[in-house]
Amino acid sequence: MSEPQNETQEARVRLKPKRDESLRRRHAWVFSGAVERVLGSPGAGDTVVVESHAGEFLARAAFSPASQIRLRVWSFAPETTVDAAFMRARLEAAIARRHALGLMRPAGACRLVYAEADGLPGLIVDRYGDVLQCQFLAAGAERWREPLVDALNALCAPAAIYERSVGAARRKEGLASRQGLISGAAADASEPLEIGSVRMLVEPGEGQKTGAYLDQQLNYGVVAAAARGARVLDAFSYTGAFALHALAGGAAHATLLDSSPAALAKAERQAALNGVAERCTFVRADAFDGLRELERHGERFDLVILDPPKFVHNAGQVRQGTRAYKDVNRLGFALLRPGGRLATFSCSGHVGIELFQKTVASAAAEAGRGAVIERLLVQAPDHPVALEFPESLYLKGLLLQAD
Ligand code: SAH
Repeated sequence: MSEPQNETQEARVRLKPKRDESLRRRHAWVFSGAVERVLGSPGAGDTVVVESHAGEFLARAAFSPASQIRLRVWSFAPETTVDAAFMRARLEAAIARRHALGLMRPAGACRLVYAEADGLPGLIVDRYGDVLQCQFLAAGAERWREPLVDALNALCAPAAIYERSVGAARRKEGLASRQGLISGAAADASEPLEIGSVRMLVEPGEGQKTGAYLDQQLNYGVVAAAARGARVLDAFSYTGAFALHALAGGAAHATLLDSSPAALAKAERQAALNGVAERCTFVRADAFDGLRELERHGERFDLVILDPPKFVHNAGQVRQGTRAYKDVNRLGFALLRPGGRLATFSCSGHVGIELFQKTVASAAAEAGRGAVIERLLVQAPDHPVALEFPESLYLKGLLLQAD
């Protein structure tokens, strides 16, 4: 087929033969190895037309010359124009979804935009009360940063917008880190927010992630409902969201264990804020040592929560990472009273639910315990999973009752 002349100014990216299958399944990414050639000279973040080897239109996508993920799709519809109005419409749809989920109470927090799953690749927006925290994690999102910020201001009228565009994702896109206040006035961090059913102090721009682990927000309620009268261990507690929910749900006592002194200091402040400080013990330790130590001292719990950081960052780390999950879960089982419950999580996208269940089952067997699964848990619905984009389902958990 001859190439059209002067028909369009848009740069085009032609794929190698048979490399159009994932786009036809509406997966949002094209890797560099699938690209045959670039027609035109698009810059980082520019919109290009992606076409099959035979020259058929497949999608409009953001071009990222530095990244292995060379293209991230904005739209599969040939008639769609990718402009500021497009960005605003996608934001509106994402915000409407959170309204429909009942997540927009003013003093609450939720993820407003979850990147590919909301049709805005590389963009994450978290809402903490009337403060927004954005991450622009891909060249395309970076290219549309100003129109996106303008639209967020118009649609949400936030008191402030912060940016936290940092970390490996930016580096892989060839983008420098950027963070700080980008719009509005600096937020008052002393005002508590309602996370789940407890009051927490979330300082946008500080802490891990963008301030809180919003992906666990529904699971806090599941743990609270299993906590009445329990002695609880919240391992990898961060600022204690699980422990605070367990105590609000009627737990007798909670031990919070984390390696971060800053996280524990904040957990103490939040325990006081919720009037449960006298029912908490704070342990700063590496979990692998700290859990062994508790076991040696004969401590036993009715409810153990294990919410470790990501142990598996890429496919090459699956073996080593599942060993870490097994070790920590074996220690968790060893600390459970007969009939006790374990709420155990993995936020590693590379560890699927089946592998996670198998790993936890080996851990139970090594600890000489049997258990049943009472609940399968996943990330909260403001972290939607795009059906055709399994990478976006990363958080999974099991609520188990041991023999
Ligand atoms: N459950 C928390 C989130 C946990 S994030 C919540 O819902 O808010 C994981 C936590 O594990 C972080 O606070 C981090 O400081 C801690 N951590 C990471 N490695 C650790 C280790 N080896 N031992 C103990 N804590 C660790």
